[in-house]
Amino acid sequence: MRTGRPNPNLHPPLPLSRAEMEARGWDACDAIVVTGDAYIDHPAFGAGLIGRFLEALGLRIGVIAAPDLRDPQAFRVFGAPRLFWGITAGNLDSQLARLTVMRKRRRDDPYLPPALAERRPPNASIAYTARARQIARGVPVILGGLEASLRRFPYYDYWTDKVHRSILLDAKADLLVYGMAESALAEIVARLRRGAALDGIPGTAVLRPGGDDRDKNLPASTEIELPDFDTVAAPTEAGRLAFAAMTAAIHRNATATPPRPIVQRHGTRWLVVHPPAAPLTPAAMDALYALPFTRRPHPAYGAARIPAFEMIRDSITTHRGCYGGCAFCALALHQGKTVVSRSRAGILDEIARVQSAQGFHGTLSDLGGPTANMYGTRCRRATPCARASCLTPRICPDLDTDPRAWRELLYAARAVPGVRHVFVASGIRSDLALAQDDAAPGTLEALVAHHTGGRLKTAPEHTVDQVLAVMRKPPAAIQDKFLRRYKAAAAKAGKTQQPVVEYYISGHPGCTLDDMLTLALHLKAARPQPEQVQDYYPCPLTLAAAMYYTGFDPLTGAPVAVARSDADKADQRALLLCHLPEFQTRARAVLLRLGRADLVGRGKQCLVA
Ligand code: SF4
Repeated sequence: MRTGRPNPNLHPPLPLSRAEMEARGWDACDAIVVTGDAYIDHPAFGAGLIGRFLEALGLRIGVIAAPDLRDPQAFRVFGAPRLFWGITAGNLDSQLARLTVMRKRRRDDPYLPPALAERRPPNASIAYTARARQIARGVPVILGGLEASLRRFPYYDYWTDKVHRSILLDAKADLLVYGMAESALAEIVARLRRGAALDGIPGTAVLRPGGDDRDKNLPASTEIELPDFDTVAAPTEAGRLAFAAMTAAIHRNATATPPRPIVQRHGTRWLVVHPPAAPLTPAAMDALYALPFTRRPHPAYGAARIPAFEMIRDSITTHRGCYGGCAFCALALHQGKTVVSRSRAGILDEIARVQSAQGFHGTLSDLGGPTANMYGTRCRRATPCARASCLTPRICPDLDTDPRAWRELLYAARAVPGVRHVFVASGIRSDLALAQDDAAPGTLEALVAHHTGGRLKTAPEHTVDQVLAVMRKPPAAIQDKFLRRYKAAAAKAGKTQQPVVEYYISGHPGCTLDDMLTLALHLKAARPQPEQVQDYYPCPLTLAAAMYYTGFDPLTGAPVAVARSDADKADQRALLLCHLPEFQTRARAVLLRLGRADLVGRGKQCLVA
């Protein structure tokens, strides 16, 4: 049954002010959600999604969005909550939202309207938790969101170039929820309602007293004990080895069946990270996305432009999880490796609501997830294996890559009345796309013909196989094959003006200046110049961040070259972008330093004039 557009009078956005709370006849909130982003009542925004989820559990929810920390009243809008504070830094790591990888202040914040762009503090999780603590002592403070999730264990912090302890200690929260939070929050709410303790919940981390009575304070089933914090944080060779061992243990446990609790001594206390919560079922995800979102920013922002919202307003999440296992990506440690796809009926129901909303012009900007073409694919085994990636070094034969569910979904979405275009904008895996096109010929052609909004995004990241192996990405020949197949499909579909946009990373661990030169030459010979280039950022908890910090691969022990200084990173970036005037002076100097004067000049083979 299609529910149509949510009536904003029946389902107004959650209160952002005391007046809105009182207009509902409430004298207080049961829980207050604090976020570093603007409050956008849309399922693609963490605070919006969690706020509606808690509301559906019967809680009265208030939202404090992008609070001004200079204002002593900012956290007193609703008074103290009855049950708990829910704190998130927002959809992004707060430092990354403020600064570029080269540590320059960003011009705008994608998750805030321009007038509030200066509001986001560094380490927002810690700053907000401290403020919430001051309002009402004794009210539990629950910390969640991506920033906290990826810092649940000691982590290498790029900005300070140090290993920090678990954020749970610095934020002084009562509990940390990691990963997608719905199941853990449902259990937390149930326990708080009956006055039960919050320890032992899947998908959470807690602190327990340590002292000498070690056994008394550990869970009976504790099986993995990490080296203690002081050991992994030591800025010595031994410390780096311990940090790598810790990272390897966390990653192996993440794909183990079942994963086990992990404990680690931090001074006189124990950090206890319980195993992840089970992923939501497809039916539970359908129910979650069917909550009465207005799919708009809170009216308090008026017509102010919020860039991230503009990008996703008419997009639909079709699935969660990713089995790609790329070394630089934390998604599998946040959402999980298992891909859970929503039902076609549930997605079509959501599309019907989107198309009936005011301001919808007939185009669904994205039907996707972390990797769009993973929708409907699955592991055929009853118990998934411990491989971190189902795709590299080669696609596992037990991975069911049949794309028919995905194709049927896209086809059905196009047929929804009022929908004229359905695009896949969130990017696809080219190795998987080739396997899907083999399994069901015509898949790529259908994608080009109907679902590519001018450009198709892929992320080969590099073209040198040794670097790709460190990244856990498929060899370069796969991307070359994909491009040939795409070109043929585009010609067949009569869409030759729809290029593939390729994303590359400069400065990734394992990539030397020579590798970057090889990449630049490969692109010059075979491709249009790259437009999408990302400076490598060591995202906490990833394998690549451990490589960046320690100089070797935690899982294999192999040494890994690292471009660590800003100058080294700038050199790599200049080579990759040497076709742009602003990078040519530096690229020329790098080429001369590498002894490649033959690539400087006016010849056809030259990279810079
Ligand atoms: S068996 Fe294959 S498809 Fe299943 S989890 Fe392992 S690698 Fe992935």
